[in-house]
Amino acid sequence: MNEIILLKLGELVLKGLNRRSFEEKLMSNARRRLRALGSFQVTTKQSITYVEPLNDDCDMDGAFEAMKKVFGAAGVCRCRACEKDKDVMLAAVKDFLAPQLAAARTFKVESKRSDKAFPLNSIQLSQYIGGELDDAYPHLTADMHHPDLTVYVEVRDDAAFIHGNTEPGAGGLPVGMGGHAVSLLSGGIDSPVASWMMAKRGLCLDMVHFFSYPYTSEEAKQKVLDLARLLTPWTGRLVVHVVPFTAIQEELRRSCPEELFTILMRRFMMRISAEVARRVGAGAIVTGESLGQVASQTMEAMQCTGAVTSLPIFRPVVGMDKEEIVRISRKIGTFETSILPYEDCCTVFTPKHPKLRPTMEECAAAEEKLDVEAMVKDAVDNIERIRIGAE
Ligand code: ATP
Ligand code: MG
Repeated sequence: MNEIILLKLGELVLKGLNRRSFEEKLMSNARRRLRALGSFQVTTKQSITYVEPLNDDCDMDGAFEAMKKVFGAAGVCRCRACEKDKDVMLAAVKDFLAPQLAAARTFKVESKRSDKAFPLNSIQLSQYIGGELDDAYPHLTADMHHPDLTVYVEVRDDAAFIHGNTEPGAGGLPVGMGGHAVSLLSGGIDSPVASWMMAKRGLCLDMVHFFSYPYTSEEAKQKVLDLARLLTPWTGRLVVHVVPFTAIQEELRRSCPEELFTILMRRFMMRISAEVARRVGAGAIVTGESLGQVASQTMEAMQCTGAVTSLPIFRPVVGMDKEEIVRISRKIGTFETSILPYEDCCTVFTPKHPKLRPTMEECAAAEEKLDVEAMVKDAVDNIERIRIGAE
């Protein structure tokens, strides 16, 4: 057990009570993600969360990858623990940071001493380690301002810790800190990205998927479950609420003007999502809509869909170009699954000429002959809930 993982906390502007709940949430999220990887102790001191393996069976590579996906951590690094002796520490630096020391041209040493009984203070320790490294590696020059490599040396009560540059963490706020929302997850590129973005802002999510069997296939549904699974390293475990949507779509096709089909369908999606939110105690709805991307994503259409609920609707990709959304989708690993060619419920009965600027009056008039409440209740009562991820 000579290695630990450090998480440097992000959003340091948070103060007081907020900061405590930030740290608590981050630690409990980290603990849950580590559960399958061995026995770890997770503690926080001075804006650093320490992830320490409790025995030699822990999967440290897996833990490091998992910790890079925990929102709230601005930086993550692996760190070697060793005896509190300046020469043991120097040897540990040379061994543990060998690849980084070989690759760097400039370096500096930063020391921290919380064990005041240690014979060198932090300045003396930095000078000692820095001087020795300078002698041992002729290609390295000290640079106090913009070094390629910063060697961190910390003397704590129980041991000394050594690490190099920190890798970027997932950033954002710990999941759960921002509250609870439902996210509309289709099989496309945008909604997994939108979900990821809002989880990053600290929202705990429940997923809602509208399923139009037999117009859309079991494979299409499986693809959505696969996307949800790909999100769980960031979001934690998820429930996907699969809503049977066929009856509503058939009713709309039968009794409403074709040009309004898409907008009316989306109003039902919102009503049903709001009811799911009420049942699970969520306070907002997330969608992957992007302004102007398709006919149902004009400002007027968004007004018509938003009007059926008083919940706030978060559309984090609303101002993004497709390329920007694709870039995030590749980064988080959902892209390859999103582009698999399965149909979505929105592509069933697509009108030839959807109305680009629907009005609220038109929508209300078209819905007059429908028993909206009963349709929503029937769909919600028949939801299938699928749990994704054990943690
Ligand atoms: P995406 O790439 O996320 O599928 P899109 O560009 O295809 O989005 P639309 O099909 O108009 O756009 O859908 C807009 C948003 O509505 C989606 O991002 C998603 O949040 C929601 N949505 C669409 N279809 C479904 C569905 N079958 N189940 C759940 N939500 C859906
Ligand atoms: Mg879609």
